[in-house]
Amino acid sequence: MKLPFLFIGHGSPMNAITDTRYSRNWRTLGAALRQQYGGHIRAVLAVSAHWCTRGSAVTAMAEPRTIHDFGGFPQALFEVQYPAPGSPELAAQVRSLLGEDVVADDHGWGLDHGSWSVLCHLFPDAGVPVVQLSLDAGLDSAAHYALARRLAPLREQGVLMVASGSIVHNLRQTDRSAPDEPGRGYDWAESARLRVNDWLLRADHAALTNEAAYPADLRLAAPTPDHWWPLLYAAALADADEKPLLFNDEMVGKSLSMTSAVWGAVDWTEEGGALQAA
Ligand code: ZN
Repeated sequence: MKLPFLFIGHGSPMNAITDTRYSRNWRTLGAALRQQYGGHIRAVLAVSAHWCTRGSAVTAMAEPRTIHDFGGFPQALFEVQYPAPGSPELAAQVRSLLGEDVVADDHGWGLDHGSWSVLCHLFPDAGVPVVQLSLDAGLDSAAHYALARRLAPLREQGVLMVASGSIVHNLRQTDRSAPDEPGRGYDWAESARLRVNDWLLRADHAALTNEAAYPADLRLAAPTPDHWWPLLYAAALADADEKPLLFNDEMVGKSLSMTSAVWGAVDWTEEGGALQAA
């Protein structure tokens, strides 16, 4: 059985402990995935915007810690623990698919908030083992995509890819007067959002990975590439012409998109922004 896979626009870490229109959809998605694929999901392979390294690394510990990699949030958020086990076995499998010389075993990281703030809704009981793969800061978009494509066989081996970032993520431009109010973004943010959505919906992965040709709006949307790269780890797993369903396709603070995508055989309906398994 071939598993679906996800890209999640994770937004504020507060989504972990707040019932928002976004976290509600993550919960719905998780429940539907567990219902349809539960017994087949052996482990999650998470790629988070918040773990960039020199070279690639994969968490190889049996019990990854919950990392609170942020500041200025309520104590309750620092108290969240996501005690999912690791999977040294999956870590080894990732290394063998990507190359032992390309990916190092990591014993120091764990699960950062890019992963756990989303996984705590998808798999609230933390029962599914999670391995995180880092983002090699030395690669460009095409190289990330090429690397990720080699992970595609994992879809048929019970591994659920959860890539977590943001397509539009320009914190310098964020309008903090209404950061939690969804709505229209800046013109450049909206055009970048719609452009990338279009690439995803047409499975135009050449456009997605051709950095030299990224238009000005996309450069403004992703002034640093860390939140952009995870999208490539999801898109790369798609079969030819396999297209995603987009949800949470909204802008927060005018310059952050929550847009998320699920590829694969799940029947969905989306009504008034709420995701429902058909
Ligand atoms: Zn983030």
